[in-house]
Amino acid sequence: MTASADNKLPYGLPPNLEKGRPRLLVVDDQPVNIEALFEIFRQDHEVFIATSGIQAIEMAHKSVPDLILLDVVMPDIGGLEVCRLLKNDQETKDIPIIFVTAQDNPEDETRGLEAGAVDFISKPVNPAVVRARVRTHLTLKAQADLLRSMVFIDGLTGIANRRRFDENFNAEWRRCSRHKMPLALFMADIDYFKKYNDMYGHQAGDDCLQKVAAILYGQLGRSYDLVARYGGEEFVCLLPGIEMPGAMNKARDMVQAIFDFAMPHAASKIAPVVTISLGVVVMIPGQDRQPEELVAAADAQLYKAKNNGRNQVCGEELS
Ligand code: GH3
Ligand code: MG
Ligand code: MG
Repeated sequence: MTASADNKLPYGLPPNLEKGRPRLLVVDDQPVNIEALFEIFRQDHEVFIATSGIQAIEMAHKSVPDLILLDVVMPDIGGLEVCRLLKNDQETKDIPIIFVTAQDNPEDETRGLEAGAVDFISKPVNPAVVRARVRTHLTLKAQADLLRSMVFIDGLTGIANRRRFDENFNAEWRRCSRHKMPLALFMADIDYFKKYNDMYGHQAGDDCLQKVAAILYGQLGRSYDLVARYGGEEFVCLLPGIEMPGAMNKARDMVQAIFDFAMPHAASKIAPVVTISLGVVVMIPGQDRQPEELVAAADAQLYKAKNNGRNQVCGEELS
């Protein structure tokens, strides 16, 4: 997934909507049942197989399927229990589960649905029926994934929003604290953006925000780096595991990349093009500090960059 300046959604679609074939996990202890389902789905789906409840739980974590076809009666852990375990696990709770079972009485079906399954299919399976039901639930799953991810995406720029940043920040804070790893926070702000709006209009201002977001996103190097719209014309980046010199270089690259993109800004007092100022703070999170301190320190560095003349980086390493 790469971002370009004219790409409205640099943040992209959730992974499961981007990839080609849906991933199915088929769980059954009988090879003949597995073969039947494998034959039905192998052409249009990526099919993973588990032959026991324990293996099913392992595979659900490892292969992250889009949907699970689950046998009810199995020797180690039964399907109902597997279903409950997966539904109680944050990582697997959103994977739809369809029970495939020889028993078809209303009580069993009720129990399965209560355990969190979305549907019931009886054995021996009818290929057309099982295909249609799987297709329906994959579509619902994709729609739900999209909605879930939209909660964390900024509507204008397509990058992560403030909410996503807050969640990631807290998680990275704890992770870096545990591993005694540095955490870098960048606070970036477009220079003289009010004048930009006044001169070119609000719509052009919005376009500019989209481009700046995409450029910053394009500068991120690692999958766990994050850039988010913090609000208005302010952006925030979170880079775990980077030391001060690397952080400063990355920040300068960002400032340079915005400058080099050369969006005309005739009302700016410091350059004929759109520029940003950027505050950098790097620290190893510890017990005696709060995440808010890092944000406040980055803000102070941003303020300094503005006062020093804008279109530049100011940074500080906190001990
Ligand atoms: P400085 O160089 O000190 O940062 O000056 P500035 O003009 O960029 O800062 P100021 O905070 O005075 O103005 C920010 C402007 O950003 C004002 C506001 O209208 C504009 N802005 C905030 N959010 C949006 C948005 O979503 N779209 C547009 N077009 N403009 C926005
Ligand atoms: Mg069985
Ligand atoms: Mg500004």
